[in-house]
Amino acid sequence: MVDKKKCIGCGTCVAICPVGAISFDDDGKAQIDKNKCIHCGACQASCPVNAIDLDAAEAKQEKDDKTKACSKKK
Ligand code: SF4
Ligand code: SF4
Repeated sequence: MVDKKKCIGCGTCVAICPVGAISFDDDGKAQIDKNKCIHCGACQASCPVNAIDLDAAEAKQEKDDKTKACSKKK
């Protein structure tokens, strides 16, 4: 996911994403379309301010799933 507090709206990630999954939201911050993202890691590697954390996004998704399943096992 994109940390909107860190993102400076430089557009590097938007340009580098091979599947066009990143766009700007109304505040000019990057946002990732999770349905398009193939988790290639290019945006995370390219962001100059480390605003993108794919692991956190996936971890959160996992946590949500696990929370639903009433289990905290990894
Ligand atoms: S991980 Fe790859 S596919 Fe996903 S948003 Fe970043 S650049 Fe695009
Ligand atoms: S590369 Fe980083 S700072 Fe630039 S628009 Fe994307 S998330 Fe924001």
